[in-house]
Amino acid sequence: MGNVISGGRELPAVEEMNPVEGAEMENVDGKKGKPVEIVIISGKGGTGKTSLTAAFAVLNKGCIVADCDVDAADLHLLLKPEIIEEHEFWSGHNAIIRAEDCTGCGICAEHCRFEAIKENGSAYEIDELSCEGCGLCVRLCPEKAIDFPPRLCGKWMVSRTRTGPMIHAQLGIAAENSGRLVAVVRKRAKEEAESKGISLILIDGPPGIGCPVISSITGADMVVVVVEPTVSGEHDMKRALELAKHFNIPAGVCINKWDINGAAAERIEKRAEELGACVLGRIPYDPVFVKTQLDEITVVEANTRIKDIVENIWKEIREFGGKHGISWS
Ligand code: SF4
Ligand code: SF4
Repeated sequence: MGNVISGGRELPAVEEMNPVEGAEMENVDGKKGKPVEIVIISGKGGTGKTSLTAAFAVLNKGCIVADCDVDAADLHLLLKPEIIEEHEFWSGHNAIIRAEDCTGCGICAEHCRFEAIKENGSAYEIDELSCEGCGLCVRLCPEKAIDFPPRLCGKWMVSRTRTGPMIHAQLGIAAENSGRLVAVVRKRAKEEAESKGISLILIDGPPGIGCPVISSITGADMVVVVVEPTVSGEHDMKRALELAKHFNIPAGVCINKWDINGAAAERIEKRAEELGACVLGRIPYDPVFVKTQLDEITVVEANTRIKDIVENIWKEIREFGGKHGISWS
């Protein structure tokens, strides 16, 4: 392992961390420039989004992978990163009552709309997990008995993997601000790409359409929505595509386990096209997804029928990008 540090100190970019030997490091025009960002998202977890992101990274060795699913990061299980830098992620504040200075007037508890403050004997105390860090109690306390230190919410890492550099993060238990952490991961991924002339960043986005997803796709070049053929899958896909449309980002759809409900898969394809998305391909249900996860490899590193199918989807993504003037090496 390289120079792993903690303590929030910023280390310079690790110059020796080249992606993969022989990997093309320049953009298609041979110059360093803005990298292409492709975000793989899904309406819910467990659709195969992370397996596909890791497989695409293997198919485009030398790209940067950013795990922006910071609430449930698991891309590291497939890509087995070797951590080179580790940084603390500080965001927001914790309110803490100094019991010795608290007179027990109860003003803070009365006004905390998150009900995070409770009486404890003659003083009051704050439940760290319920406190949203709004700071109101700090302002209202007549005794100035509430401290408000910065909150350590998690960590983010720069790593080396067999496919290239990886930027990933881990949000602390019950920590908030995952949208901000996503922004930190994306920013660092872009810096790495720009400094090394890497033309593609693959982002494993969070599920859903909340703040972390918005933070993952804002300003990205392409969105790939992974969906399963179910009623809720169709609904989730619709919301994800509407979000992409709102941000004017070209979107494609990939149906995983399409054969568990062929009629629903057809309906989803039709719906996706109506919403202006490109249908990138279908993947049948196959236990190889689970098996490769257990073996800590990607589905394209196992020699099964899924390898060809995923390779074809990656080809479709390239072609779809080309139609929108988006290309990478
Ligand atoms: S407002 Fe201040 S003094 Fe009153 S209960 Fe809260 S912490 Fe104690
Ligand atoms: S900081 Fe806000 S949420 Fe936290 S205890 Fe004080 S008033 Fe409640």
